[in-house]
Amino acid sequence: MHALLQAFQEWRLRRKRFAEEWRLHLDLAAHEYERLGLTRSRARKHARKRLGSRCRYRATAMREIEADFAALLKLLPIARLCESAFVIPVAVLLGTILALIVNPARIQVVHSIVVGLFAPGASGLSARLVPLNRFGLIPTGFPSISWECGFLIGSAWLTIRWLRAQVSGRMLIWGVATLGVLGTAALVLWTTVIQLWAVAEWPLNFLQGLFVLGFLFGYAWLVVSVLRFWHRSVCRRCPICLHRLRMPLAQGALHNLLLDPYEVASVCIHGHGTLSESRWRRAFNPPAGFWRELFVERGGS
Ligand SMILES: [Zn+2]
Repeated sequence: MHALLQAFQEWRLRRKRFAEEWRLHLDLAAHEYERLGLTRSRARKHARKRLGSRCRYRATAMREIEADFAALLKLLPIARLCESAFVIPVAVLLGTILALIVNPARIQVVHSIVVGLFAPGASGLSARLVPLNRFGLIPTGFPSISWECGFLIGSAWLTIRWLRAQVSGRMLIWGVATLGVLGTAALVLWTTVIQLWAVAEWPLNFLQGLFVLGFLFGYAWLVVSVLRFWHRSVCRRCPICLHRLRMPLAQGALHNLLLDPYEVASVCIHGHGTLSESRWRRAFNPPAGFWRELFVERGGS
């Protein structure tokens, strides 16, 4: 609780900083006009006009000083908890198991997923699409194909990196298992929502159709988002110990493409190496220079 309050306090202080700085610049500008002989109210009016709209700068400033809502999420203790490689996969797995336990038609969910994944041509699958009833199989063609493709591509990419000795066996197992858990959870979500959709009393057929259409697009967005999240998680972790890479250090200029391009170097705090990311490349290198001195030589002495 204390950590939560501290996070809120820190975030509130950052937000106050913008208000204070804005007031300071407004006062300075108003003071200049007052020295020119204007009354206080007219000076402030001109100063406001000169600075422009406060709202226009606020969103950018909040993002720059990390006082927006995204920064609040990073500050909360839950964000630190999620830094562990196992918290999110275990939470998703437990949530999926719970969703199956509380679902009275859980056999239908499991059956539909198994058929969708391993026997997509099974009879009855398409015949019951409209109208769908609770006794039939739930069509899982679209999510099954999406997750099978995502799983195969993700696993193949990670396996190639493992064969090239770019990631450890631990990272390979973790990455494939996490992808499997996320895919299974998403398949359970799909079948559960379709079940609810089928048994719900819809006042208008139009609403029922609209919901399915919205859900289809929303699900496609979810698949892409989850795969991106997984890819980012793999890339932002140490390929040896799976801990999140820390202390990002930016070099180069953001607008340079070839000469001195923008590059961010992050380090594994357990001394396994540094990750360099730029527009053109991403490479994890063993500790060198200062980091080698800090981790390897001190570790050896
Ligand atoms: Zn490491």
